[in-house]
Amino acid sequence: MLYHSTRGGAAGKTFEDVLLAGLAPDGGLYLPQNWPALEADAWRALQNRPWEEVAVAVMAPYMGDFLSADELAGLIREAAETFGHPAVTPLVQLGGNLWMLELFHGPTLAFKDVAMQILARLMDIALARRDQHVTIIGATSGDTGSAAIEAFRHSRRADIFILHPHGRVSDVQRRQMTTVDAPNVHNIAIEGDFDHCQALVKAMFNDAPFRARMRLAGVNSINWGRILAQIVYYATSALALGAPDRAVSYTVPTGNFGDILAGYAGRRMGLPIEQLVIATNINDILHRALSTGRYEVTGVSPTTSPSMDIQVSSNFERLLFDAAGRDAQMIKRLMDSLAQSGAFTIPEEVLQAIRGLFDSGRATEDEVVEEIARTHEECGLLVDPHTAVGLHVARQKAGAEAAMVSLATAHPAKFPDAVEKATGKRPPLPQRLAHIMEDTEHLSVLPASLDKVEAFIASRASA
Ligand SMILES: *Cc1c(COP(=O)(O)O)cnc(C)c1O
Repeated sequence: MLYHSTRGGAAGKTFEDVLLAGLAPDGGLYLPQNWPALEADAWRALQNRPWEEVAVAVMAPYMGDFLSADELAGLIREAAETFGHPAVTPLVQLGGNLWMLELFHGPTLAFKDVAMQILARLMDIALARRDQHVTIIGATSGDTGSAAIEAFRHSRRADIFILHPHGRVSDVQRRQMTTVDAPNVHNIAIEGDFDHCQALVKAMFNDAPFRARMRLAGVNSINWGRILAQIVYYATSALALGAPDRAVSYTVPTGNFGDILAGYAGRRMGLPIEQLVIATNINDILHRALSTGRYEVTGVSPTTSPSMDIQVSSNFERLLFDAAGRDAQMIKRLMDSLAQSGAFTIPEEVLQAIRGLFDSGRATEDEVVEEIARTHEECGLLVDPHTAVGLHVARQKAGAEAAMVSLATAHPAKFPDAVEKATGKRPPLPQRLAHIMEDTEHLSVLPASLDKVEAFIASRASA
């Protein structure tokens, strides 16, 4: 299986290449040159099989000879064991045709753990083979940073530096990062806001000598390894609901389009996915794009679902490319237009192709509060604001035939204030995380200065 870039500037790359590269050199994103489909009988044989076995069947066809099936199975078992639920990603029926897929039982209580735990282990293997070390840098307003730190804390090949805005992330989110005591984990609290953190990370990647000297790497949601790992829970849930013999639809709380793109990949692999519904909060570039055909950047408004507060949705480029019959020239044109004028119009035939499978909806902040209260009243369940965005949209889109599965992307205890406001109940941290409120924190406070941050990283990294 080989990979090529959505912008035509790279092709013939192996799984190991794209895993370590993240972004393609032409600024595009990598996709496999074709989708490896499984026959209906192969899917049937996976019904009622353990999560790990489904994961191997789904992921192996993308990896060429990167790992043997046994090695891959061992790696996935290790990743799955970091989850606090025997089913890893359990499916819960909310009523009638509506289901919730709980993706938040990982070590940091958000769905990003699923992919990050697998990605870190894959990267260690690839780096060991090349006898390389990397320096992972990232900015976080909460979720991504802690998932990455948890995943890479045992890495022998990566140092990880996560920048967060000093005093501006919640206690729980900060402590999830800063209580990790490992020599390769470094928390930097920047005197500034999240935009400062992001700008610093971007500036470091753009500083070519620093980037090369430190062997900088990113683990954000454009890495193909993350998307690949996320296909697994679409497969496990569809199989549990009767795939390949019964259709199923999904509603996905969406930001960067990584999670829902994995659903698209699942469909291309032969899962009977009838509809994929994009759920956005008021930062609704994707909902507007699907409704009007115009993909247009506006400002970002902070919401109670911060992991979906995005200006552009990077992985949407992968869907556009596939829906456009893999016309890299077209994608390059659209992305140039986005860079120059902050917008592009999706060509009509591409829009029609996308609408054949995708639908979209949005939830306002008031609707999120109502949804959290409603799910609590009707089902006795506490859900976080990201999950509530999905449920609000899922209720509108659920049809009579196919089961509708709404993805629960964060544990309610990660967003206790919003949940308490809507229900009067404060969700407690799961027992296995309670220790973080007591443990010693490790962090360095630095000014929002590129020189100071680069000097700090250079003095601590081993790459
Ligand atoms: C990252 C995140 C999302 C959005 O996922 P994308 O892959 O960026 O679309 C939704 N909910 C939570 C809790 C997240 O952390």
